[in-house]
Amino acid sequence: MLAKDIKLSEILSQEPGTGFPLFGAQRMIISGLPAMSRLLKQLLTLIGPEQLAGVLSRFGYQIGMAGALKIAALYDFDSPMEWLKSFKYIGSIAGIADSMIEIQHFDRETKSLKFSVICKSSFEVECWKSISTDMAPNPICHISTGALSGFASVVFGSEVLAKEVACQAQGHKHCFAEGRSASDWGLSSAQVRELWAQLEMNPFEKEIELLEEKLKKTQKDLARQKEKIHDLEAQTTQIGDKDGIIYRSGNMKKLILLADKVAPTHSIVLIQGESGTGKEVLARYIHNHSGRSEHPFFAVNCAALPPKLLESELFGHVKGAFTGANSNHKGLFLETGKGSFFLDEIGELPLELQSKLLRVLQEKEIRPVGGLKSIPTKARIIAATNRDLKTLVKEKMFREDLYYRLAVFPLTVKPLRDRKEDILLLSRHFLEQLRPGHPGFSPAAIRMMETYPWPGNVRELENCIEYAIILAGQDRIMPEHFPQSIVSEDPLTAISSDLPTLKELEKRYTRLVLKTTNQNKQKASKILGTSVTTLWRRIKEMGM
Ligand SMILES: [Zn+2]
Repeated sequence: MLAKDIKLSEILSQEPGTGFPLFGAQRMIISGLPAMSRLLKQLLTLIGPEQLAGVLSRFGYQIGMAGALKIAALYDFDSPMEWLKSFKYIGSIAGIADSMIEIQHFDRETKSLKFSVICKSSFEVECWKSISTDMAPNPICHISTGALSGFASVVFGSEVLAKEVACQAQGHKHCFAEGRSASDWGLSSAQVRELWAQLEMNPFEKEIELLEEKLKKTQKDLARQKEKIHDLEAQTTQIGDKDGIIYRSGNMKKLILLADKVAPTHSIVLIQGESGTGKEVLARYIHNHSGRSEHPFFAVNCAALPPKLLESELFGHVKGAFTGANSNHKGLFLETGKGSFFLDEIGELPLELQSKLLRVLQEKEIRPVGGLKSIPTKARIIAATNRDLKTLVKEKMFREDLYYRLAVFPLTVKPLRDRKEDILLLSRHFLEQLRPGHPGFSPAAIRMMETYPWPGNVRELENCIEYAIILAGQDRIMPEHFPQSIVSEDPLTAISSDLPTLKELEKRYTRLVLKTTNQNKQKASKILGTSVTTLWRRIKEMGM
């Protein structure tokens, strides 16, 4: 999960019955700026600016710390850096500021962390403006910097301190803060802790413990929740949408790059991939990006028609060629003209039609069934198969010469399980298509979709989402809205249906063990009978 994939509408909701605003399962209080300004003004008079700075920093620290734990309970981030970047949403949800974090350095081993933050529309600056007409002598966004410190300390696992270096209340364009680990400020962790203690701070380890306990409870509550969405702000997700192809994975990026290269040429393209991976979508993409896009795109499924009918559909026939041939029939090759002709499931093409197709490819001419004259064709062939054509060649089910004619530029669409990064994007895309404005998926549902192996690929995903929408109606989609087969699916039960390779099986089993051990590499390597280092290497190799 990347920070930018977070959707506020999926984590904010209302408690059924009371209508209280909730963040995850935690109740929040919404307070307007005027009331907060008055509170701060009174506190300022009562305790003075220095004391107030301490109280506010500490208050912010707690918001940040709780926010970091809360958001990590909702989402599995790809890296600690993505987790840290998600602070933006805590700042937004809390109404503190619109912040943008830039991380310069993150290394837990060497205890080094450096980042800078730009805060726009800080609510503390707004409060200042309503209290005073003067410029502030010093930065005043104590809650924001406190929240940043608390949030980053939890992510980093030891003390991090954020300091505001320029504040809008002082007359700067925005507020700027610098965040660093204790060592990067030239302080020891103990010194930073002492600093917080001066702000009348209790040791925060204890609070983390308490919060973690609460967190566990929250996670349980969350699983049972069925709330309505409080659509405060919809954050648009960056979708790698290229003419109907939704992707973000490296595997798809590489594939699209190749498709872009071959599209404008006249080469025959062979698209390989499991059922449901979207081979026809890719074929249309290639057609649309070729010089033939103004001409027709025809698709035929070679497995769907009996051989005689298929022959006449492909190559046409002349009147009287066979009983029932009452008129001339042009056939799809000629109908395609200068367009693209997509032959799906080419591996199922009967042998006698294979030789006929080979002649078309070699001589660029069609002879209709029963015809004496050959007619030139300019159609471009894009073929697709979910079979391993080389194996079919070995088994004499597919002509070798035809195979080499077709496999000039082979493209392979990877199964969905090998491009997990696309699952969330695709799911949201289908949801938006099927039910525009739907409140979306619960974090648990997202986790479930991302761990399921999807043997039926994109098509299966689309069907499942349609199923889930029917059950969920206008409510947010939860795990229980998915078909039973998916909810109870563990990565190994699918093996009898999709017969994976040993390597794929190893990958699934490793994933299952990691899931069962809660990603504990030590425990997992013990179960798998390897060293932790080997396990790490394997995880890396498998791109898990
Ligand atoms: Zn400020």
